[in-house]
Amino acid sequence: MIDDQIRQLATRPDSKGPFVSLYIDTARNDEAQKDRIRLFLKNETGRLRETIGENGNGLEDAIRQIERYVDQSLAPETRGLAIFAAPGEQFFSPLQLPIAVRPQLAIGSRPHIRQLAELRQSHPSAALAMIDAKSARLFLVNFGALEFEVDLENPETPTRHDQGGWSRTHIQRHLQENIDRHHQKAAESLARIVEQGRVRGGVILSGQERNVANFRGFLPKRVDEKVIGVLHLDMHSSVEDVTAACTALIRGRARGEAMARAAELEGSRAAVGFNRVVAALNERKVDSLFVTTNASARGWRCTSCRILGLEVPLGCPVCAKPVRSCDLVEAMVLTAEGEGATVSCIDEPSPIDRFEGVGAALRF
Ligand SMILES: [Zn+2]
Repeated sequence: MIDDQIRQLATRPDSKGPFVSLYIDTARNDEAQKDRIRLFLKNETGRLRETIGENGNGLEDAIRQIERYVDQSLAPETRGLAIFAAPGEQFFSPLQLPIAVRPQLAIGSRPHIRQLAELRQSHPSAALAMIDAKSARLFLVNFGALEFEVDLENPETPTRHDQGGWSRTHIQRHLQENIDRHHQKAAESLARIVEQGRVRGGVILSGQERNVANFRGFLPKRVDEKVIGVLHLDMHSSVEDVTAACTALIRGRARGEAMARAAELEGSRAAVGFNRVVAALNERKVDSLFVTTNASARGWRCTSCRILGLEVPLGCPVCAKPVRSCDLVEAMVLTAEGEGATVSCIDEPSPIDRFEGVGAALRF
């Protein structure tokens, strides 16, 4: 869902009129919050109106549409709302998220998707299997929320009367065979979820060590290789607790991975610093773009050939057409996403801080 939305935003042509990108925190879905959102919109649009002046045509329509949407369509579980709108083109694309966002309102000719890319990267989908000797709960955690849950019970759990007359070893073997069958069945279910290809962030297991070890014995190698951590949650944990524990693990892992990859940016297949990374984007050879949380620069983008640059020239040095001043990091993220490169946002301190907080792994 979010992949499609990012792709759609990154590949749409520049808007002729204003393009509104709004991120707003909606953790408390009540009347006071709606007032707070209205106030935020009023203040922010007032501030922006001064800078965009005549280009503000259609802006009032967009604000009214956003207010209507917040009033009427916000789901109670939504924690963060992102809205992208081009009022002159009847384009209105809202995205309700189960996680909080940083309040931000930007108006330009293109969408601001840096925050969306950052949220997606730090919340990849993961599968969770909670296992004990008798039951299993399987979850898909996506974007900080639970997408579905499958409960498996071991139907063959022996009851007391099964044990009559059996030797102790016989009972133990019988119990173990039952547990094995149950773990095998649960492992097959988990493998099916993983094989559907929706588990980008990995697999999380939870249970007592003995059960987890036994269960892993039945996991296909390709699934076991995706295990990113083992938790010890109570089998009866609430959905909220399960989600929170998984999200912390998934985020930590995603951020750690991005950081490790950024540390390897060197040699001829890498670019660091705004000048080099922008040049690589213009040559369309970026495979992965890395930006730190605080990386920031103003720059320009050609309205015709779409190349990016750092110091604003009078006209595009390539095609001589007019250029437009822009938030350079936003423009870089949009260009990278539009070309199918991956975008990773990393915390500071990071290995690329000394390169203005931007780096790229190159395809060639
Ligand atoms: Zn140009």
